[in-house]
Amino acid sequence: MTVLGAAQSAGIFIPTLCNHEKLKPFGGCRLCMVEAEAGGRTSLVSACKYPVQQDLVVRTRSGQIDNIRKVLTEQLLAFAPDSEVLLELAREYQADKDRFAKEPSFCILCGLCVRYCAEVKQRHGVGFIDRGASREIGFIPEIAATECWDCKECFPLCPTSALQAAFVLVKSLTPSPS
Ligand code: SF4
Repeated sequence: MTVLGAAQSAGIFIPTLCNHEKLKPFGGCRLCMVEAEAGGRTSLVSACKYPVQQDLVVRTRSGQIDNIRKVLTEQLLAFAPDSEVLLELAREYQADKDRFAKEPSFCILCGLCVRYCAEVKQRHGVGFIDRGASREIGFIPEIAATECWDCKECFPLCPTSALQAAFVLVKSLTPSPS
């Protein structure tokens, strides 16, 4: 079991934007960073990937952790300034929603839609496109035309409006299967 899974089972809140109970840990958003102390050493780890172990001491909040979450939230808000989930995190960690110049792609690349479609639905109807700063998600028109129109199970997973916008776009550009 991971630290995040153990915390969730115990009702202890650790923020995350890329974790889902049906998906493999991704470690993408880094918001679940916690302090883990074992054998006299303390390190910062991603709770969604770090396994629980005997005598492990975990701090889910500290000045350092809160500051990391604050900066991460500020960076993500540059991409998705209207995301309710991010605005809630901004309130919790006193993040300045206008700290970074806006580059509103509306996708924060959490990968939930891509991984859910691949791992749970095994359809690969939506995927990552490009690399680095150009990376974005997109529906694969040939697959979307037969698999996505009536599915939409990924919609509620998206912490921003990016997924629905991409869906509307691909649907408008894709002829219906005959
Ligand atoms: S479209 Fe939404 S769910 Fe998919 S990667 Fe972007 S933010 Fe995450």
